[in-house]
Amino acid sequence: MAQAPDIVILNGKLITFDTAHPRAGALAISGGVISAVGSTADIRELTGQKTRVIDAQGATVLPGFIDSHVHLFGGSVEMGYLDLYGIQGADQLTPVVRDYAAQNPDEALLFAVQADYSLMGPGRKTTRHDLDAVLPDRPFAVYSPCHHTIWANTKALELGGVLHGGTVDAGAQIVMGDDGLAMGELQEPSAYAPVLRHTRHSGRDMAGLITGANPVPAPTAADRGVDKDAIERGMKHCASHGITGLHLMDGNIYQAELLDEMAAEGRSACRAQVPFHYKSFDPLDRFEEAGEMRARFTSDMVWSGMAKMFMDGVVESKTALMIAPYPGTDHIGDAVFEADHFNAACIRADAMGLQIATHAIGDLAIRRTLDGYAAAQNSNGKRDARHRVEHIEVLHPDDLPRFAELDVVASIQPGHAPFGGYFNPEGMDEVMHDHQIPLSFAWGDIRRSGAKVVFSTDWPVIPVDVMPNIKGAVAPIKLDGFRDQSQSLMDTLQSYTAGNAWVEFNEGRKGQLKSGMMADVVVMSHDLETVEPGHLGTTRAAFTLCGGRVTWEA
Ligand SMILES: [Zn+2]
Repeated sequence: MAQAPDIVILNGKLITFDTAHPRAGALAISGGVISAVGSTADIRELTGQKTRVIDAQGATVLPGFIDSHVHLFGGSVEMGYLDLYGIQGADQLTPVVRDYAAQNPDEALLFAVQADYSLMGPGRKTTRHDLDAVLPDRPFAVYSPCHHTIWANTKALELGGVLHGGTVDAGAQIVMGDDGLAMGELQEPSAYAPVLRHTRHSGRDMAGLITGANPVPAPTAADRGVDKDAIERGMKHCASHGITGLHLMDGNIYQAELLDEMAAEGRSACRAQVPFHYKSFDPLDRFEEAGEMRARFTSDMVWSGMAKMFMDGVVESKTALMIAPYPGTDHIGDAVFEADHFNAACIRADAMGLQIATHAIGDLAIRRTLDGYAAAQNSNGKRDARHRVEHIEVLHPDDLPRFAELDVVASIQPGHAPFGGYFNPEGMDEVMHDHQIPLSFAWGDIRRSGAKVVFSTDWPVIPVDVMPNIKGAVAPIKLDGFRDQSQSLMDTLQSYTAGNAWVEFNEGRKGQLKSGMMADVVVMSHDLETVEPGHLGTTRAAFTLCGGRVTWEA
């Protein structure tokens, strides 16, 4: 007789995403894989003396959530910084910052995250003088939610050596004042990296985003230990939201090494794909490194095989690349790549069999990204490449059908939308034209066009919490001018599980509750199909299992 399973989950409302058996009540897990799916009575029969029984109590059971766009290292590290979400104006800001400063007397640079673009008041730009008034005597800097801008006080600009300006990459800017000194706003990574170098982790967490190369100077053994501790906390946090898999959208060999070591040490609560990050200043031959990463990291816990690129910045700082100038300006944003260079990079990466994921927010950035993928198809022939466009915030109508035509995946973060329920939607009219509104964050329209759509958070841009993000897609708030992009709960759950398994080429191994699949499973707190859509954000994971190991229980 076959051995009894290690774990059974009974009394569940299983949504399996297995088209042959879409519904079930229970499942069994043996040796890290799903060994049986059926009714509670059937699965109970298999139970042995040593089998752990998890009672789902009538709640939804799903394949483990996969967040297909996160910054794991940064998100993990930022859990320890001052969080300014919801804070506005000097009166609110000053006491929390001074309190934080008092609690952290030895910190070289006091650092806060989630600082709104209108931190100092609607329509007002944050300056070093504003932050000097909040904290004059110690270096202090704040990160925008999108991570494309840092605002720093005078001490922090001095500490970073950028008070008098400095050299930056294409698309980046140290905003200078009439007095010849930096104003305090540092746009894009190469402008703010000198300041970020003075944070708790010496900016090592951001190296995968800023350069895609390993941190300089080379981390010591002690650094590696501190970094792994932070990532371990971050992964546990992800698991507490039902997440079993992550697609990192920044990366370098250092991060992949840390994750590989952690997996061997049994400290990883989630599986992680680590991309090779190609920058616009890199020669094409740097893609060899992507091949090395793909060959070196090949486990079910840590793997590579993807090239990440950035085509533009963000709408809020007017660095997203647009077809028409921003309202009231002659500025269309900043191209990170020259179109020819980007096309050549796509052709090279595609020829190597790599998957490509490109950050593209403005309508011109999206168009050029699709052009690059089309160039790769023309040059190398069409293959099952599953290239992705990340964000897609402002889409030109002419480019809507191109996703389906080119078989390009739309990777969208519902919680980032003005109607997603997380960010304050005010001020969009200052950065967007009326004609751009209908197809902004148009995940519903893109899905209806026949293209594949996958969902994620871009943590730490917004919290990694799955259910508030799902609520944003199923029950977005109603905003004038924007089209209704709401979609069904089932499509949304599919995007976050089976869809995200598919986009990583693992649809045959995970993303379904089916015999033989990896035992990545989440038991929810509620039967999601009976929860009022507007309340989905309050539900959460009761149990999370990754590879048959319980990584979270409420
Ligand atoms: Zn991102």
